[in-house]
Order: sequence, then structure tokens, then C-alpha cells
Amino acid sequence: MTLLHVGDSMRGERMAAILPRLVPGLTVRQWPDVGDPAAIRFLAAWTLPDGLAASLPNLELIVSMGAGVDQIDLAALPDVPVVRMTEPGIAAGMVEYTVFATLALHRDMIGYRENQRARLWSPVRARPAAERSLGVMGLGMLGRAVLHRLAAFGFPLHGWSRSPHAIDGVACHHGADGLSGFLACCDILICLLPLTAETRNILDASLLARLPRGAGLINAARGGHLVPADLIAALDAGHLSAAVLDVTEPEPLPVDDPLWSHPQILLTPHIASTTDRDAAARLVGEIIAAHRDGAPLPGLVNRELGY
Ligand code: NAP
Repeated sequence: MTLLHVGDSMRGERMAAILPRLVPGLTVRQWPDVGDPAAIRFLAAWTLPDGLAASLPNLELIVSMGAGVDQIDLAALPDVPVVRMTEPGIAAGMVEYTVFATLALHRDMIGYRENQRARLWSPVRARPAAERSLGVMGLGMLGRAVLHRLAAFGFPLHGWSRSPHAIDGVACHHGADGLSGFLACCDILICLLPLTAETRNILDASLLARLPRGAGLINAARGGHLVPADLIAALDAGHLSAAVLDVTEPEPLPVDDPLWSHPQILLTPHIASTTDRDAAARLVGEIIAAHRDGAPLPGLVNRELGY
């Protein structure tokens, strides 16, 4: 019984050290050292080489090493369960990043960064948190964790998802019908959606125009959610005040891309949260054990919905 790991060899080494202790009888191999393809029951990967999964006749389970699965072509995979990485450090990192980004927007830090460059001493009256509404798109593992922590600052909170949710202290909106009402409440909009056919390019001119004038945007989900030219137009027109972007398309962002130099954009290189190698290996062990026992799989992906 073998797990084939595809990707970062240091992560593969941690899997080889940790997994056999958790799943007796399991061997871990590192791509491209496949060995006997018939022995491979489990695949763990960030991205998959074309045709690899289909070439493994006894494959039972695929684990995405990221919280998202948009980097994997689900339609090309054999009919086995696909699970995504949900180790708790991912949410902890995302909470830190979005709290930082929200407070940076709330306290005008991007404007002060520009003022410092210009040696301009120009204080702006801070708006109370109770007068600044926040909205989170996506009420899954990350959106909920972020809302929970942001509640401590006293911002009025809103959330938007595909299906209805009820969360204490959060006004929940859902579906296409609920989107305009949600956006009208977002002085700061935080995107934490998965990237799917439905959500690609969702942060476009039409959506940004429905935010209140002066709103700020945080995209820590995927670059493919945002239409960058529409963001720049909304910033230049004064409709949006500033944006914090952790993700772009493509990554790395080409050096001549206008997002780099826009004075109202703070850009980071996809560092909001990263998967801890050891915690990820332990979770893969739990997933394999759950699969073996016929128990619910943590992070099971709905392949039709794409997340
Ligand atoms: P999740 O638990 O699967 O939650 C996804 C949420 O998005 C759910 O609430 C879902 O609604 C909602 N949603 C999906 N499609 C929608 C649609 N068409 N309209 C409205 N709502 C929709 O995902 P997660 O773990 O929170 O992660 C979200 C994303 O964050 C990941 O997919 C990944 O792309 C990104 N991420 C980024 C970083 C980084 O470092 N920047 C790190 C980790 C993850 P329902 O609740 O109704 O299903």
C-alpha cells in the first residue's frame, strides 16, 4: 500500500517520516519514483502531471496539498474522492493576514505609506470601527475563522455564500439574489471564495460599482477572482479607496504589471497562509485512516461544484 507524493521534496520527506507511523503498512514514494503503479492507492499533490492519476489502476484517493483545488483539473481525474488540505495552520495564517489587511485599510495605512514617501504630515480622522461595515465573500473554513476574529474589533459584519448560513453576529446573505444587498453593506470587502467556473472574474467592474463609494478591497483567495483592469479603473475614478492583494494571475506577477506600482494597492506574493509540512502529513494520515474506516473524509471536495 503506497502513497505517491508529487511536489516539494522536503514535504515528501516529512510525509515519509510521519505517515508510516500513523498508517501501518504504508510506503511513501516521491514523484517521479513511482515504482509499481499498481501498488499506489493514494496520491498527495499540489498539481498533478497530465495523465498520472489515470495511469494508476488501483488509485483510491487524491489529496490536494492546498486549501483550494482550482490548480487541479478535476474533470481529468478518475472517479475517486478528492480531498483538500484543511490543517488548522491554514486558517490561522489567513486570520492574521486578513486582520492585518482590514486594519491597514480601516486606518488608512496605504495612504500614510504614500504620505511618508512624500514627507507629508497629514493626519486623517480615524473612523470608529462601529461605523465601518465588513463583508466576507465565502463562509467556509477561512471566511468563518476570519469573521470570528474580526468580530472583536466591533465592525458590523456581513457574509455571502452560495447556500444560506446562520452565524452569530454576522448578517448572512447568499446567492446571486443576495449579492447586491451584501455589496451595499461592504465598506471593506474580503474575498475568500474558492476559484470555480462560477466565481472566476467575480471581482469585476459591475461588482465593484455596487460597493459603497470609498470602499476597500482585500483579495486573499485567488488571482483569477479579480479583473485587475477593473480594479485599477475603480481606484483611479475614486470609487474605491485602496486594495490589498495577496494573489494575482499569473504568479509570480510580471515585473511590468501595473498592479506593482499603483499607489493605492498593497501587494504581497501569495503569503497569506501556507500549509505546515508536519501538520499536513498528520492530516493526510487522518484522511487515509478515515477512508480505510469508511468514516467522513475531512475536506472532501464536491467535484461537481469544484470546491
Ligand atoms: P471552503 O471551506 O470550501 O468555503 C468556500 C465558501 O465559498 C463556502 O461558503 C461556499 O458557499 C462559498 N462559495 C463557493 N462558490 C460560491 C458561489 N458561486 N457563490 C457564493 N459563494 C460561493 O473554502 P475555504 O477553505 O474557506 O477556502 C477558500 C479559498 O481560499 C480556497 O479555495 C483558496 O482558493 C483560498 N486560499 C488562499 C490562500 C492564500 O494564501 N492566499 C490560502 C488558503 C486558501 P457554501 O457555504 O454555500 O458552500
